[in-house]
Amino acid sequence: MTNLYPSTTTSPYPERTDLAGYAMRAELSRGRRHAESLAADRSPWELDRQRLTRSAAFRRLSSKMQVFTGVMGDYHRTRLTHTLEVVGVARAVGRALRLNEDLIEALGLAHDLGHPPFGHAGEAVLDRCLAGIGGFCHNEHALRVVEVLERSGAQFPGLNLTLDVLESQQSRIDKQGATLLEAQVVDAADSIAYDTHDADDALKLGLLAVEELYELPLWRTARTRVETRFADLDPDQLRRAVLQELTDWQIDDLVRVSASRLRNLGVETPDQARAAGQLIAPTQELLEQKLEIERFLYERVYRHPRVLAMRHDAEMIINEIFARFVAEPARLPEHFFARVGDLGVERCVGDYIAGMTDRYAEREHRRLAVRSERSNPSIRRRARLTG
Ligand code: MG
Repeated sequence: MTNLYPSTTTSPYPERTDLAGYAMRAELSRGRRHAESLAADRSPWELDRQRLTRSAAFRRLSSKMQVFTGVMGDYHRTRLTHTLEVVGVARAVGRALRLNEDLIEALGLAHDLGHPPFGHAGEAVLDRCLAGIGGFCHNEHALRVVEVLERSGAQFPGLNLTLDVLESQQSRIDKQGATLLEAQVVDAADSIAYDTHDADDALKLGLLAVEELYELPLWRTARTRVETRFADLDPDQLRRAVLQELTDWQIDDLVRVSASRLRNLGVETPDQARAAGQLIAPTQELLEQKLEIERFLYERVYRHPRVLAMRHDAEMIINEIFARFVAEPARLPEHFFARVGDLGVERCVGDYIAGMTDRYAEREHRRLAVRSERSNPSIRRRARLTG
């Protein structure tokens, strides 16, 4: 992988003895951009984890949507609970493969930090707003968050995370080049988590009937597996058991085939793993079935009229907030306005909006009086739901 940052520190951390040869170790960490004296009793990625979970950007994930907004109910995943599910799946895979779980956890916690309000709808509209200056991509913005916008102390900008975490995030942007096995595990866990929980949320919100999901071979097979173990489950118990089966099945498949690839290629070090390309991936059979689920979710859930209506509202809110702040940058909070001279007003407005939660964006939209409250669609919808 390209050496993007100068390394300045190494850790004296005493390593676990049960890691595989291809797992990352603290002694192999490339250190941090800014030199610090670090505690010797914690791995470098434990410190990353602590800084990530204490960041404002991480806490705000609790009020950022994954697929469905807060006005649709309180059952479904937020960006925060999605992140925690990804970390859980990734740690399970990492433990089975004897990879470095501290690094996996740090990468998992960071992986969606760059999402703006309103999920991919928010990302698409911000990308259009910023098209003249390079656009907006949540993976790139996650790097800006941890390197520039957040602070963990007075000595340096950003969280000063390990270069291992920064470079893994960079590889998600480049979509090429060698990546650590721990980063590949997080990407695979992300896919396992959303392929399963988006269907669960859509069922609970009434956007889908479970019979529609049983049209998919993966769901049908999972149900058969559950029914051979448990008799007489009621529909709700069956649904929960099938969801668990789907997750466990994907984890087992991923671990089994990835371990086999590592063994067959004789991979014994992290460098050999990087050079070998993508090694953490499901079997071709499962991959094809996951693609079928993703096509199904795209057609029946992500393009459902209720989701599209939410998307339309989100686009209007972000477009109007963006236009108002670009026209009147002095209205920006002080620390964003202070950067206008260096970065230009559009990037600073983009940074401000990207950090907002869904709720904060709606409030800011009202506060700016872009439209009268009567015409605000989010308020109208709440009135319908509560009325
Ligand atoms: Mg994710």
